[in-house]
Amino acid sequence: MSAIRVRFAPSPTGYLHVGGARTALFNWLLARKQGGTFILRIEDTDVERSTKESVDAILQGMEWLGLDWDEGPFYQSDNFPLYKEHVRKLLDAGKAYKCYCTAEELEARRDLAMKEGRKPKYDGTCRDRIDQLDAPFVVRFRAPQGGEVAFDDLIKGRIAFPADELDDLIIQRTDGTPTYNFCVVIDDAIMKITTVIRGDDHVNNTPRQIQLYQALGFPVPQFAHVPMILGSDKARLSKRHGATSVIAYRDMGYLPEALLNYLVRLGWSHGDDEIFSRDEMIQKFDIGNVGRSASVFNTEKLNWLNAHYIKSGDPERLADLLLPHLSSRGVSTLNGPDLVAAVKTLQERAQTLEEMAERAVFYYSAPADYDQAALAKFDKGHLATVYSVVADRLAASAAASAAELDALFKEICTDNGWKMPQVGQPTRIALSGGTQAPGIGEIVQVLGVEEAVRRIRTAHAFVTA
Ligand code: GLU
Repeated sequence: MSAIRVRFAPSPTGYLHVGGARTALFNWLLARKQGGTFILRIEDTDVERSTKESVDAILQGMEWLGLDWDEGPFYQSDNFPLYKEHVRKLLDAGKAYKCYCTAEELEARRDLAMKEGRKPKYDGTCRDRIDQLDAPFVVRFRAPQGGEVAFDDLIKGRIAFPADELDDLIIQRTDGTPTYNFCVVIDDAIMKITTVIRGDDHVNNTPRQIQLYQALGFPVPQFAHVPMILGSDKARLSKRHGATSVIAYRDMGYLPEALLNYLVRLGWSHGDDEIFSRDEMIQKFDIGNVGRSASVFNTEKLNWLNAHYIKSGDPERLADLLLPHLSSRGVSTLNGPDLVAAVKTLQERAQTLEEMAERAVFYYSAPADYDQAALAKFDKGHLATVYSVVADRLAASAAASAAELDALFKEICTDNGWKMPQVGQPTRIALSGGTQAPGIGEIVQVLGVEEAVRRIRTAHAFVTA
């Protein structure tokens, strides 16, 4: 194992967002590539907003994507004594101080600063006070002034902030609980994180965190801030653009390898390559090649990748993954054709498992009605003759494989002077209800000749009624 230690640190206030999943993926890839350690840390110090359901949803999303972690999950809520101890350390060293300013006082000063055109920064009233009051207080970090705080971001390059712009950060609230920026620093330091990869909505936190590392005498890790994912209108990707939860993509019938492949390419590239297996991603990933600008989520590209993985996927695995999509449609596969055989006929054309399930339904239940518009393209007399001839010929034939059955249909056409569509389309309608179905030979093979004949005879009765 190399010394590299990275972490994914979601706040459990909702499901696993695709943006979060991409951050997790980049961390995971770096760890796997370098033989390092990937840690999962649940940032649940915001007790009001953190829920057990969210923790479960995040873990479920990670597991579904196969982003396995080496250590954790650790919960920040288990670490309160640790944070307290470090607040104490800073207080004892004079690097933090108690601030008794009330919310009203702070607000009034902030308003005044705004009115006078100054930055609304804490004015330092309690910075140098030596008396202890018997009043509620917060603990503030005594942020070093003068000069700048700079870091070399692995994605964005050098970023520098004038130290004077950084506030005396509150590290402990009046109720004694530690604040977010403080906990992150303590945890990253104690967990010996070497590289912090996170969303670039945290860039402004980084200089404050660096000052805290330095004040506490901890080595400062490297930082890599990943640009946001945007919706098609260039606004930050949110629910109004469509699904943003990883599990929602599973439920819509995406394969984990397709979503991973899509996410890795969202902001990262390796030449013109588009398709990456898990191993190839690990081999080729380089955090330095992540782009600096935000990426736009493109469902069409995700669909294209999903179709690719469905087409090339193992039919047995796809059949397993398809089952929940069939049961949600009330379809049981127990009394019907072999699902793996059915999947093989649908792999070529389905973009999602939902689509595949929709198209598989007819294998397990005979059409309740027919596509009238499609039927209307044929003369009733022609339909009656085709159904009767095809049913008889099929019933009398020993053809069983898709190829043999296709040959039989060709023969029927030749014998009767029909063109293939004149037989194929009506038969497809009889078997599946519509025209959107796999090749005729394939369908009959999967359904079995007996069931196919039964359906064709039912259609015959329908058109001659
Ligand atoms: N808990 C933070 C979030 O979910 C991540 C903090 C970090 O990665 O430093 O946005």
